[in-house]
Amino acid sequence: MKCACCSGKKMPCKDCAKDTHLSSDIDYYMVENAIWKKYGGDAEFLCWDCLEKRMGRKIQIKDIVDCNINKNMNKNAMVLFGINPLKA
Ligand SMILES: [Zn+2]
Ligand SMILES: [Zn+2]
Repeated sequence: MKCACCSGKKMPCKDCAKDTHLSSDIDYYMVENAIWKKYGGDAEFLCWDCLEKRMGRKIQIKDIVDCNINKNMNKNAMVLFGINPLKA
């Protein structure tokens, strides 16, 4: 998967320090504002797993934005949208 932005900036997860942007396993996604406000809080970036840990549950399709970033750049989000990440 290739990043669509691509500013080439590092975007480290606040909780585990994984680079959510430049690693081969891109973990860039957009969640609904209410979710980020409630759980993202102080963080600039969080990887998918760490956000789920903070939420205490799995991220669901209603939590994420219906946008090209999610549909092209994050395999977890793609699965929720019914897209096979291996074919993208
Ligand atoms: Zn990028
Ligand atoms: Zn993390």
